[in-house]
Amino acid sequence: MLPDDLPHDLPTFIARFGTDEACRDYLFHQRWPGGFRCRACGHGEAWALARRNIYECAACGRQHSLLKGTIFEQTKTGLARWFLAIYLVTSSKGGIAATELQRQMGFGSYQTAWSWLHKIRKAMVRRDRQPLHDRVEADETYVGGAKPGRSGRGAAGKTLVAGAVESGRGKARGRRLGRLRLARLPDAGATSLEGFLAANVAKPAAVVTDGWAGYADLPAQGYHHEPINLSASWGDAVLRLPAIHLVFALAKRWLIGTHHGAVGKKHLPAYLDEYLFRFNRRTARSISHRFARLIEQAVATEPVTYRTLVATPAPA
Ligand SMILES: [Zn+2]
Repeated sequence: MLPDDLPHDLPTFIARFGTDEACRDYLFHQRWPGGFRCRACGHGEAWALARRNIYECAACGRQHSLLKGTIFEQTKTGLARWFLAIYLVTSSKGGIAATELQRQMGFGSYQTAWSWLHKIRKAMVRRDRQPLHDRVEADETYVGGAKPGRSGRGAAGKTLVAGAVESGRGKARGRRLGRLRLARLPDAGATSLEGFLAANVAKPAAVVTDGWAGYADLPAQGYHHEPINLSASWGDAVLRLPAIHLVFALAKRWLIGTHHGAVGKKHLPAYLDEYLFRFNRRTARSISHRFARLIEQAVATEPVTYRTLVATPAPA
């Protein structure tokens, strides 16, 4: 549950979350929404060892770290700095690039800003997300490389991204966009595409695609398949699968506009996660809705170190 008294602009944000103590209290309530409860003995009272962000059970003495198992676990920085960075990232309309975060936060190095952004992105992935349903448009596109746009399945130097978006029925068909899923795929074969849809789209949703053979088995997978035979031109796909192509265009513009297209294959999934986080919360009324949602998820997100970020080999 998100609080209903969220800050609505930067001054009210600073007033509420300007100190480490205020941020710690907020995290405490996120972690123990029903009040403190000792994991060892079930007791409901604790002493705060505030400087170390530790709560010690008043009955058995068991120590509970506020930050363990959250994206803040390894941090040597005060929580207020983290909260401010998360506010900057989530409240800005399109998000911010590492260079901009470095400038605004006064970080000494680009690497610091870059790794903070990646930790924050980790918390953008919702663990309990519900599959898409009703009517869904699905397609793939290529991201990155020298030339924009789609140049056939298998374009060299680009990364294949599959997308599915809830796309409305009746008069709203293709116009009323619902929730979105995007994922990097190794190839456009049937196994990859079916795996993507199975992980993201409920059965028996209606799935609208082009006539690509990789989608031919969807009825056998339990979907209502609506294949559309497109002419060879890219413009035809835009007209006849308007929802997913609008989304692809917006996502690519975001990658170029906010991140200057400087997104490598290895880290692309993290950027897609950020795009999904923004897109799927685009109608949030409050400017700090995304902030509060991100903090909520940050508490439940395992920490990641700079070394892991840099060293993890890209999956296929
Ligand atoms: Zn206890």
